[in-house]
Amino acid sequence: MNIDAAGARGKCAACRYQRKRCEENCPLAPFFPSNKVEDFNKVIRLYKVSTIINMLNSVADNEKKAKMVETLILEAKIRYENPVYGCIAVEEKLRLEIEETMKELDLVQKANAYFKELRKTSLYYKKNKETSTSGTQSFKGHKSDSTLEEATSITEHHAIQDVETRIDLNDNDGT
Ligand SMILES: [Zn+2]
Repeated sequence: MNIDAAGARGKCAACRYQRKRCEENCPLAPFFPSNKVEDFNKVIRLYKVSTIINMLNSVADNEKKAKMVETLILEAKIRYENPVYGCIAVEEKLRLEIEETMKELDLVQKANAYFKELRKTSLYYKKNKETSTSGTQSFKGHKSDSTLEEATSITEHHAIQDVETRIDLNDNDGT
């Protein structure tokens, strides 16, 4: 990139902070362009410019360099918001959330197991009830048989009474 191009893209955030001319081969320009002044101002609270450049040089892959800068910015933002605990504050919050979620999951699993067991038990009782109901039905059948017997005996009794009444009538006629 020539000076004109560097001028066109504007001073990178790092060079703007250092109040120096942004050279064509500025190592920080690709990662802290002119629109990342705020991010750079947070990162510089944690690391010196030379440290940032050293960290960038320790990574060969350009994609990983970009990821590294992204991580530095995130770390700096969190430290800015939590000056005492920094990232640990976020980690602790997430850890508590995980703990709460695991407890909730455990409760849901227990409730699920309970209702499954309940369903199994109710199915078992329903099956048993059906069996005992068919038993009752056979008992009822027996009962209705006896009722039929009773009914037959009553009818027979009435038939006998009818015959007796007729004999009586005949006797009266004879008199
Ligand atoms: Zn620069």
